[in-house]
Amino acid sequence: MALLFLAATTATPHAALSLVPERIAPEAADRQDSQTPDRVSLSGWVGSRIKANEANRLVKLDPARLLEGYRKRPGRQSWDGEHVGKWLHAATLAWVNTGDPALRQKLDFVAAELVKCQLPDGYLGTYVDKNRWTEWDVWAHKYNLIGLITYMRYTGNLEPLPACQRIGDLLCKTFGDGPGKRDIIQAGEHVGLAPTSVLEPMVLLYRLTGEQRYLEFCQYILRAWEQPNGPKVISTLLNAKRVDKVGDAKAYEMLSCLNGALEYYRTAGDHRLLEACLNAWQDIVDNRLYLTGASSYGEVFHDDFDLPNVDNVGETCVTVTWLQFNAQLLRLTGEARFAEQLERVILNQLMGAQRPDGSAWGYYVQMEGKKPYSSNLDGHCCLSSGPRGLALIPTFAITTDSDGVVVNLYDAGLATLSLRDGTPAAVTIDGAFPSDARVSIRVDSPSKKPFMVKMRKPGWSSNTLVRVNGRVVPEPPEVNGYLAITRSWHRHDVIDIEFSLQPRLIVGDHLNEGKIALLYGPLVLAADEALLGFTNLNFKTIGVAEKQLASLEFIPEPAPGQFQTWPGAQVFRISGIVRRSTGPLSAGSRLPIRLVPFADAGSTGAEYKIWLPVGLVATPNLLFEAAESRSRKGNLYGSITDGNPSTAVVTFDGKPADEDWFAATLDGPATITRVVFMHGRAFHDGGWFDASAGKPKIQAKSAADAEWQTLGELADYPATTATDPSKLKDGQAFTLKLPSPAKILALRVIAKPACGDDPRQAFSSCAELQAFRDK
Ligand SMILES: [Zn+2]
Repeated sequence: MALLFLAATTATPHAALSLVPERIAPEAADRQDSQTPDRVSLSGWVGSRIKANEANRLVKLDPARLLEGYRKRPGRQSWDGEHVGKWLHAATLAWVNTGDPALRQKLDFVAAELVKCQLPDGYLGTYVDKNRWTEWDVWAHKYNLIGLITYMRYTGNLEPLPACQRIGDLLCKTFGDGPGKRDIIQAGEHVGLAPTSVLEPMVLLYRLTGEQRYLEFCQYILRAWEQPNGPKVISTLLNAKRVDKVGDAKAYEMLSCLNGALEYYRTAGDHRLLEACLNAWQDIVDNRLYLTGASSYGEVFHDDFDLPNVDNVGETCVTVTWLQFNAQLLRLTGEARFAEQLERVILNQLMGAQRPDGSAWGYYVQMEGKKPYSSNLDGHCCLSSGPRGLALIPTFAITTDSDGVVVNLYDAGLATLSLRDGTPAAVTIDGAFPSDARVSIRVDSPSKKPFMVKMRKPGWSSNTLVRVNGRVVPEPPEVNGYLAITRSWHRHDVIDIEFSLQPRLIVGDHLNEGKIALLYGPLVLAADEALLGFTNLNFKTIGVAEKQLASLEFIPEPAPGQFQTWPGAQVFRISGIVRRSTGPLSAGSRLPIRLVPFADAGSTGAEYKIWLPVGLVATPNLLFEAAESRSRKGNLYGSITDGNPSTAVVTFDGKPADEDWFAATLDGPATITRVVFMHGRAFHDGGWFDASAGKPKIQAKSAADAEWQTLGELADYPATTATDPSKLKDGQAFTLKLPSPAKILALRVIAKPACGDDPRQAFSSCAELQAFRDK
């Protein structure tokens, strides 16, 4: 069937771009309208990050790198094929937002070159023939469809359409539950969650082309989810209402599927899918969400409140699909609770994953540690996800609905909107939010008819004051979580909003028992080693004196040079910080330090942490706060002298070793009688000592230039081997009692590391090394 489309404008995007229309009208009409990004230009903090994303990341990526795995299959890595589609999606939205001709030129080139890589049967993955449909190639087709459909609809250039249809036709021909077809659940990872996430663009392809077979393919995916070997997405969310029980609980792939389910609901109106997604949302918000809007560790959803601060926490792909999920729900329901989660995840976790200059992204962006910024796509799914999240923000920041205008985010900016009846309405937001509590909104429309302006009422603001043209509006009506003002708007009409932008103290529970976190309005704050100001403080062991806000003397102030990432940038001085110490609390122990928004924390390469321990620790452990070192740096953030066994370190570097050691060095000599070594964690491929080569030894040095002397061995360490950790428990402690007191300056545990199931390497781990002088 020949396709005829209205030609969309290909002129500069600021001439009000219109999307290439779809052939199928949605069954479930959106309550809030997604905006084309040319209509909304943000200029505050968020706006500065969106611009940096376009200028320093998206336009700078080398097309040859994006296309490499297609030009020379199979490429350098099994899911390398996903990057080009993710880039096309993000870069198209960014180009529509900025109108940058250099980016448009690159988009046209990449879209055309990608299409040239399609094989005659429609295959557009990076796998060689014999390995087709085994791992991540349905997945790459998903992203190619998302990227190319976005490109076509915004640029009006429909040249890639036949290629997209060939992809759709190949998928329809290959997969299904009819005779001679392959099972899509077995065509990729994570109980089929990865390949079936192709649902989202197959719905989009159906709406664009009107071809019934694509809708039928989507219906097959919904059936496949519930097959005996399927992930049971919808039935689990309708019954158990828990995301950690769906498939293998893999967060990124599951949220990708749910975004497809919502797209299907929009198109076909199957209400069960919306209900399942609302259950998933409620479950994540109630039980599985970090303060910053991150929502997984180790890339999967875990049990209720099982939210450790480190352990591959906060994969950026999860952050972005969570953002998309909230944006979808906001469009479909018009309820402000989804916009509230968007603000939370954008201002904290998403911007915290982006280096402030926009050039790099972090993969796991944890609640403490160092920001793992990288600009190299190799093996980094998150590096092409982060830019999509930022590029989507203009589509929902300021928008329209059947009543008028909706303000979801308070970043300064200008929106040139059309109401649903076609009336133009310009909305200007001024202010330095979130550094300034006052925001002014000007609404300008030629319409004589009154319409509503809805402004999200933030949950973090205990008192939100609204003035229209200087007059207080007492108790403005609330609609779906928005404060609503209805009138006929004239030039120079101004709404002033004043939030109560105040510090909030969160007392930790579950895994953060005994700790507090500080928030300021929507911002999660973190201590940053670069802002300590006192070189004699050990960053790992600072905490706060009390869990009362009043005792902390919280004072916002302009950010110093290296943290001046936007004109309104602030840091927050608190005076209740103490060094947790072995000695008595002295006057000097109570010191001011400065906290920084999580989005900028760690941006200079220093360590940061959100959760601060409360109170002094009076510990007899003589190695508490001692300087630490180990035979190999490893890849886990933690400490063996912070008194916290849950922050283990490892020596993992992918290489074998005959010997590993973990050491602590004191400022001056001390006399000890007992040593405790706490094992860190046993992984499938190592993490323990191989005791078949000898039990772990405790060695000491009496002076900086002395030789290591063996004090004894950990006789109660189990009979482990290179491949068997022999029931070792995480954090398990082993003690060496010395026959007589020893004077030491440094202490270490040393033994052979284990390789587990991967004999090409070996490593060990340590949670704590402690020493005591018993009477
Ligand atoms: Zn990722």
